[in-house]
Amino acid sequence: MMRARTCRTTAICPHCNTLIGARTSIRSSRFTTRRIYMCLIPGCGFQGVAIEEMVFQLSEGASPDPTVDLPFAPHVIRMRERNAAIAARKRSQLSFTFDDDPSGDVAAVA
Ligand SMILES: [Zn+2]
Repeated sequence: MMRARTCRTTAICPHCNTLIGARTSIRSSRFTTRRIYMCLIPGCGFQGVAIEEMVFQLSEGASPDPTVDLPFAPHVIRMRERNAAIAARKRSQLSFTFDDDPSGDVAAVA
């Protein structure tokens, strides 16, 4: 028995605004895929080519390829900068707490 093919990659038909599935996907470069979409609504028959491109990374893979030159998304950069500032502030607060000797004794430093 033949099973109906399900399309996991979908788009919206620009003519009848229904969900259309990718019929074929071709990897055209490391970051680019071309997809051929086909509308299955009787009477529409639209077919078109879409180009999907990786433009940002949200997180590196577990084994990052050093040849991959894909920038991080701006919101990820802002989040990393904010987290680094928070960590630096916590470190400075911790070192102040540990360096501040309440007895007033000054330890000899070699
Ligand atoms: Zn259509």
